[in-house]
Amino acid sequence: MPASIDLKPVDASLAAPSCQASAKGAATMPQLEIHQFPCLSDNYGVLIHDREKAVTASIDAPEAAAVRQALAQKGWTLTHILTTHHHADHTGGNNALKSETGCTIVGPRAEAARIPGIDVALGDGDTYQFGSFEARVLDTPGHTAGHITYWLPDAGVAFAGDTLFALGCGRLFEDSAENMWASLSKLIALPPETKVYCGHEYTQANAKFALTIEPENDALQSRAKEIAELRSRGEPTLPTTIARELESNPFLRTQSPAIRKRLGMEDRADWEIFAEVRRRKDNA
Ligand code: ZN
Ligand code: FE
Repeated sequence: MPASIDLKPVDASLAAPSCQASAKGAATMPQLEIHQFPCLSDNYGVLIHDREKAVTASIDAPEAAAVRQALAQKGWTLTHILTTHHHADHTGGNNALKSETGCTIVGPRAEAARIPGIDVALGDGDTYQFGSFEARVLDTPGHTAGHITYWLPDAGVAFAGDTLFALGCGRLFEDSAENMWASLSKLIALPPETKVYCGHEYTQANAKFALTIEPENDALQSRAKEIAELRSRGEPTLPTTIARELESNPFLRTQSPAIRKRLGMEDRADWEIFAEVRRRKDNA
């Protein structure tokens, strides 16, 4: 559509809204609508929707009923599931949702055999076109061996599953601390303003632990207060941003002299600092 629209008589029922939408659309980037909702005990479901292209993806599918309800609430029709990793609290809804909607299930190639209903298997450096948006795939192993993250640069968002959490990171079930550190290093290299959606609402417990690692961090202290307020009102602490995590997440702050000193590891490699913080959290 040209930027200046010569209004010609068209079907009256379409004229007003469609011309208005087109005039806007010509001047702005395509919009990705995002709807986050809690499900299971502490998971988040996320729906992303490109209205113009009429596509809707569920980021993981923790449980069919909650995803179905969120779709109904938004009036969106499921076309895709973008899976981050094979755990049941991320894939439990795959088969039911696929049989109801015929949606395309995208997921990590390295664990494709464990992703119910997978149609498209992707790995590091691959891209997947979702409506108007290119999703770039990053291998982020650690929590599971084949975990992937979807980064949509034009929407400024990343879906990190159980790799990165607000003030935390996933447990190392299937890979080493060194490899998880490499995965987190990819995420912190994304543009700082990138909004990061995560698989779980663990933030308040993470804040409590983070304060034992870097108690004198002002940004962490004020964030912990804000988190307590949000949670007391039952509100989500996610999405977060890369910038916020870099200033307050102890798992990412391997360069902090205060953390290195506290751990007695001043001269060690970043991944070793990370490994020690992870070990302490596991034992907390
Ligand atoms: Zn998981
Ligand atoms: Fe999970």
